Order: sequence, then structure tokens, then C-alpha cells
Amino acid sequence: MKIKDIRTDFINSLVEIYDHEEVLSFFYILSEEIISLRRVDVAIHLDRVLSEDEVSKFEDAKKRIINQEPIQYIIGNTHFYGLSFMVNKDVLIPRPETEELVDWILKDIQDVKDRLRVLDIGTGSGCIAISLAKKLPNAKVFAMDISDKAIDTARKNAKINEVDITFIHNDILNVQNLPHNFDVIVSNPPYVRELEKQEMKPNVLDNEPSQALFVSDHDPLIFYRKITELAKRNLKPEGVLYFEINQYLGTETKSMIESSGFNSVSLRKDIYDNERMIRARLN
Ligand code: GLN
Repeated sequence: MKIKDIRTDFINSLVEIYDHEEVLSFFYILSEEIISLRRVDVAIHLDRVLSEDEVSKFEDAKKRIINQEPIQYIIGNTHFYGLSFMVNKDVLIPRPETEELVDWILKDIQDVKDRLRVLDIGTGSGCIAISLAKKLPNAKVFAMDISDKAIDTARKNAKINEVDITFIHNDILNVQNLPHNFDVIVSNPPYVRELEKQEMKPNVLDNEPSQALFVSDHDPLIFYRKITELAKRNLKPEGVLYFEINQYLGTETKSMIESSGFNSVSLRKDIYDNERMIRARLN
């Protein structure tokens, strides 16, 4: 089988489920992974004959795509903030909105040269903690997660990206006291309410870890309240708390943080114009 035959087969088999451009983009992502050819190189190697092993890798990936599995899990990696991250079903696939949160933090604190202490709560793949550690080489970065499998993956990602992170395996809802005082506490905790499940696509619902996504309809701010309470005690006086938030709960989240004693609380929209981030300062 030649590359062009596999490409035609991909288009024919997938075009009823995904749009044409998306199918091509899956195909080129896989070409890079399986036969190490980038999109521009595929065009000049269309007549290259694939080995049996290569064909079966394409076939296997095609079946997984038909089953709505995200391409990032199929190839086992993704990019976030210009860095490469290993991903698997134990961790959420990093989202572009979260890159905006990282960007906000880095714009705020880029001039500080002291050894900042940073804590990421619910780190998952480690994307927030690792990106911050990479861009703030003087900082001491800590990352917490309830899932030891997520921590395993995050640890590998720290290694891949050559940063030193202190991992803490713990359930934030059971933490009485944080181990240090921090300059920055950041979290992208679970925030999708059960009632919002119907808005979600099957590729997310059937594949990504529900523990990282969902909260109950009756107490959707459970993580935000707990983290805010801990941050109140364990942020340094000039410290800052950052959250990624549920776009429908911006006002509620902001008032909860204000009523717990933070003085300057700002909501920020993401590129899709949804209220997606919050920054809170004690002073
Ligand atoms: N933004 C993610 C989604 O829509 C949710 C992330 C989270 O719950 N923290 O799938």
C-alpha cells in the first residue's frame, strides 16, 4: 500500500464523522508519528510503499479515531505553551484556554527575580506547573494531584521538559495546611457540572478522566472554596491566586473569593469570549 492509498482510505472512512480538513489534519499528525514525514514531505512521497507494520499502525489509529478517541491520546503526546507533553487517559488533554492562564501569570510575574514559590493544585499532566517552571527558572515549583497515575505522567513530563518539580500526592479537599507559604497558587480544578454534560462531545466524555472534569450540580465551587481558604492562609502577603473557572459561574466564583477576604479579584475572558480565569490578591 502506498501513502496516497492510505490517505484516500482515511478520507473515505472518516469524512462522514469528521470534516474534511480535520481528517487531513489527523492523517498528517499520524504521518509525522508513524513514518516521520511532515505534511510538506508527504506530498512528495505519495508513491512510497508502506511496510506492513506502518499500514497496521495507520489502521489501528483509524479505528480509534472512528471510536472518537482524541488524536492526542492516540499518539500519546500534545503541545502546550510551546512545550511537548506526554498524555494518556489518566490526564486531561491540556486546553488552549489553560495556556492563556499560564500566559496571564507569566505576564504578571515576569519581572520578579527572587526564588518564587509556586503551587499548582490538580496538576494532571503537569502542563501548568511545568510551563511555569520552564519560564521561571529561579522559581521553586510544587504540583499536587489526587491521582497517583496523573502524578506519574506529570513526573515524566517534568523530566521530558527538564524541570525540577516537587510533586505532592494528596486530595486537596482533605488538606488541612499547605506545606509552605507561596507567592503563586494556581489551579484548574474540576468545574464542569453534571448538567453541562449534554454540551460535551463524546470524545471528551468517553475518554478523558471524569475525576478531573466533573463536580456536582449542587456544589460546583467545592474546589474553589477549599483552595481559596487554604490560599488565604498560605499565600505570602503579596501573593496571588489564579484559577481557571467555569464560564457560567464567573460572578459566583468571584463573589465567593471576595467574601473570603481577597481584596482585588479580577475576572478575565478567554479567546472565545468566555469568562474563564480569575486572579485574586490579598492586598
Ligand atoms: N475546560 C475543560 C473542558 O471543557 C474542563 C477543565 C476542568 O474541568 N478543569 O473540557
